[in-house]
Amino acid sequence: MTEQNSPRRVAVVTGAARGIGAATAERLAADGYAVAVVDLAADAGKDTVDRILAAGGTALAVGADVSDAEQVEAAVAVIAAELGAPVVLVNNAGVLRDNLLFKMSESDWDTVMNVHLKGAFLMTRACQKHMVDAGFGRIVNLSSSSAQGNRGQANYSAAKAGLQGFTKTLAIELGKFGITANAVAPGFIATDMTAATAARVGIEFEAFKQAAASQIPVNRVGVPEDIANTISFLAGEAAGFVSGQVIYVAGGPLD
Ligand code: NAP
Repeated sequence: MTEQNSPRRVAVVTGAARGIGAATAERLAADGYAVAVVDLAADAGKDTVDRILAAGGTALAVGADVSDAEQVEAAVAVIAAELGAPVVLVNNAGVLRDNLLFKMSESDWDTVMNVHLKGAFLMTRACQKHMVDAGFGRIVNLSSSSAQGNRGQANYSAAKAGLQGFTKTLAIELGKFGITANAVAPGFIATDMTAATAARVGIEFEAFKQAAASQIPVNRVGVPEDIANTISFLAGEAAGFVSGQVIYVAGGPLD
C-alpha cells in the first residue's frame, strides 16, 4: 500500500450529502482516505457514508453548519477523535440565493457569503493545525466559472472569486508546512443545485442541460465525478508542487 493510499490519512469533505461533495467523498474513500462526510445534519450524510462503507471504505457522517464557528470547531474535534487528524480538506458546501441585484436582499448576500467564504475560512482554520502538525496537507476549495461574473449571481460570483484569493493566500502562508491549496472551478455540473436553477427560470432540467451542453466545447454538461477526479489528483502526494492554482473544470477553456 502506498503512502497516498494509506487509511491513516483522513479527508474532510463539506456539503458531502449529495452532488459534487458526495462524489468527492466516495472518490477519496476509494483512494484510501478515511472520509468525514460533513453536512448540515449528520443524518443527511448517511447515504454517502453507507455507499462508502458498502464499497469497503471508512467514513463518518458529521453534522455542522460550516458558517458557524462553534459547530465547525466541534465537528473537527470529533473528526480528529474518531477518524484521526484531518490532512485533506475539501471546502465544497454551498448554497444559491440568486437574484438580480436590485431584487437581492441583504439576507441573500449574507447567506451566500457566510456559507461559501466564511465557511471555507472557518473549516480551514480549524483543520490547518492538524496539517501543520502532520507536515502535510491538501486544501481544495470549490470556486466556480461564475467567479468570472454571472447574471443574477452578484453574491455567488463575489464569493467564488473571493475563494480564489483565499486559496492563493493559503498557498503562500501554508506552503512551508507541506500544505498545498488549490481551487477547482467547475462549469455546469448536473446536480440538485443546477436542477434548482432550471426550476427557478422555469425550464425543464433536461432542456436546460441540453442548452448548456450546446455551449460547451466537449458537447456535454459535467457530472460530479468530473470534479471528484480533479480533486482526487490535487489531494494526492503527486500534486505536491501544484499550489495556489485555480483549475477550471468546465469542458472547455476558461481562465
Ligand atoms: P448541492 O447539490 O446543492 O450540494 C451542496 C451541499 O452543501 C448540500 O448537501 C447542502 O446541504 C450542503 N450545505 C449547504 N449549506 C451548508 C452549510 N452551511 N454547512 C454544511 N453543508 C451545507 O451543490 P453541488 O452542485 O454539488 O455544488 C457543490 C459545490 O460546487 C458548491 O460549492 C457549488 O457552489 C460548487 N459549484 C457547483 C456547480 C454546479 O454546476 N453544480 C458549478 C460550480 C461550482 P442541504 O441539502 O441541507 O442544503
